[in-house]
Amino acid sequence: MGATLDPVRRRLYLEAMGIQVWRHRAGAPAGEGDDAPRDAGQAADPLPAAASLSSGAPSANRVSTAPEAPRLPITPNSPFSPTARSGPGAPVPARVDTAAPTVEVSTLGWDELRAAVATCRACGLCATRTQTVFGVGRRDADLMFIGEAPGAEEDRRGEPFVGRAGQLLDRMLAAIGLDRDQVFIANILKCRPPGNRDPKPEEAAACRAFLLRQIALVQPRVLVSLGRISAQNLLETDEAVGRLRGRWLSFGPAALPLMVTYHPSYLLRSPEQKARAWQDLVQVARRLRGA
Ligand code: SF4
Repeated sequence: MGATLDPVRRRLYLEAMGIQVWRHRAGAPAGEGDDAPRDAGQAADPLPAAASLSSGAPSANRVSTAPEAPRLPITPNSPFSPTARSGPGAPVPARVDTAAPTVEVSTLGWDELRAAVATCRACGLCATRTQTVFGVGRRDADLMFIGEAPGAEEDRRGEPFVGRAGQLLDRMLAAIGLDRDQVFIANILKCRPPGNRDPKPEEAAACRAFLLRQIALVQPRVLVSLGRISAQNLLETDEAVGRLRGRWLSFGPAALPLMVTYHPSYLLRSPEQKARAWQDLVQVARRLRGA
């Protein structure tokens, strides 16, 4: 994945995202210059120039131990507790009912996993979906985004993050020099909740094995959780996104580095938060390039 970021191109993308950028002022001190998002009360945080995010070659160390990442409290029965044998790099015990006989998800390869999702009847959402939305992108991506659930357009097209929110996600990716073919994008749920309601806990639990298997297969270096539903389900917490975002957390026994940020749909409704999302992505870009 080439991800060299031209400053002019970056500014254009940021402006397309609706983020105002600093203009270099004559006589301004070094570091006070171009391209940092303007956000009252927050320090500017420009993306390092020429960020090289990924070589496209397999990473030598695919799973970071993220030693500085704080861990959230987890319940004893959490599938992400240190003693749980689930998560990336570990067997996923969950079995999922499909139209075919029940399958052991942790052993599935990509094609089998896609087929299992397509025929899944493990929760009631199978009755109202048009089709499942498996996920999209590079199967060995360094960066994996995890959203909430398909909406109406995603349900119709079978792809996550299409429509206006998807277009904004594409611009967010472009702002750090990537496109969606270079990352993997998945959701907590593979089927659309009717009326775009929040996923029920039992639906997220029923679908979790699929997502964990996707993470295990991709082996991303960094996870980005988009929005409240994604973050709260991944981290098994009730904390608000505003308290989770902006710092490195870890996911699963392998302690995958996880950054929580706002969902693009929320950013469309609350554009004043785009600058904070940009700051989160800057941290992601830095992590990917090893800075
Ligand atoms: S949401 Fe997940 S668990 Fe529920 S039917 Fe769809 S694929 Fe199966």
